[in-house]
Amino acid sequence: MKTKELIENEKKYLMQTYSRPAMVLDKGGEMKVWDLEGKQYYDFIGGIAVNALGYSHPKLVQAIKHQAEKLIHCSNLFYSEPQIILAQMLVEFSCGDKVFFGNSGAEVNEGAIKLAVKYFKEQNKDKHKIIYMKNSFHGRTIGALAATGQYKYQNDYLAILPKFKEVIFNDLDSVKAAVDEEVAAVLIEPIQGESGIKIATQEFIKGLRELCNKEGILLIFDEIQCGLGRTGKMFAYQHYGIEPDILTIAKSLGGGIPIGAFIAKDKIASSFKPGDHGTTFGGNPLACAAAIANLKILQEEDLIRKCQKKGEYFKDKLKGLKEKYPEKIEEVRGLGLMVGMELKEEGQDIVKKCLEEGVLINCAAKNVLRFLPPLIVEEKEIDYLIGILDKVFKDINLCF
Ligand SMILES: *Cc1c(COP(=O)(O)O)cnc(C)c1O
Repeated sequence: MKTKELIENEKKYLMQTYSRPAMVLDKGGEMKVWDLEGKQYYDFIGGIAVNALGYSHPKLVQAIKHQAEKLIHCSNLFYSEPQIILAQMLVEFSCGDKVFFGNSGAEVNEGAIKLAVKYFKEQNKDKHKIIYMKNSFHGRTIGALAATGQYKYQNDYLAILPKFKEVIFNDLDSVKAAVDEEVAAVLIEPIQGESGIKIATQEFIKGLRELCNKEGILLIFDEIQCGLGRTGKMFAYQHYGIEPDILTIAKSLGGGIPIGAFIAKDKIASSFKPGDHGTTFGGNPLACAAAIANLKILQEEDLIRKCQKKGEYFKDKLKGLKEKYPEKIEEVRGLGLMVGMELKEEGQDIVKKCLEEGVLINCAAKNVLRFLPPLIVEEKEIDYLIGILDKVFKDINLCF
């Protein structure tokens, strides 16, 4: 079956929730993917910050094969070795003490919200509201959606969403004003991804930590996109010199195999008792083996430290383009290899042109080109992208 027929069948058999370009991805290797027609693309989206090791890293593939032959799944009715080893690694890397495994970002945010509420229940306190940021993104399930500050996602479901409290990102006074006795936690992406790479200020995060301490509420960091090395540190909270009470991760954790986790301090984690939370697939041996391999490779290849350097190189190059096309480019910002280029107009045409030129990029919040390349990206591949962007900016007549 070739491209055209597959796409027809997609329209016929799949719910039409995604709009995608007319090509079908077939295989990948390192930074590159190929479609069914054999066209090659350099990938600067990385499966939305998932393929940190690029495509088909041999050690990751080997670990998955090995575990698949041994034990793919056994449910959480039983212990399994990879789950326990992975939990230990995550605890050693992070500020948390105990881990719960889920299968996706939204699911672990749900779990983190439940844990926060349970923590206060244990103290006979009825705190059931979450403070979240405008323009945040925490996932599409009911609880996570209730904390996602974007009307376009919440709109049709407001009737079934719990009433959480929206505040302004980087505005501590707005958070202070929202705190009351019903609030259990503040949930925040230290770097907002989906809404166009917006970085929380030092002042704001420090202020949040102090406020949460003072008011006795929990601070939950959603590091699903920015965690696990992408910003040049294992976790983004490490840039701020503070620690969250609960940390959620997912996207790149399994190197492409679906897995997420929330990690909490002991005194909070211990409020979950047997039966309080659960999931069939969460932390299954195959996903955990992939995640263990992924974390080991990050260390062995020193990818996190290199990510910082490459990110600086990348941003410098993008800033070069900004100087060349000041009428088209507003700002370049980012941390490590989580990089955004804000345009003065919508960016969808640029994404399309780049695709034609064999480069995959993404546009967030309509006017921010978002780059989340695999952490294995090389300078020469960044140069290649910059060359293509240069050509596209030169050619394109944006309707400015
Ligand atoms: C992607 C993302 C989520 C949701 O993850 P899913 O696996 O799509 O449910 C939540 N929070 C952030 C910050 C994300 O980037």
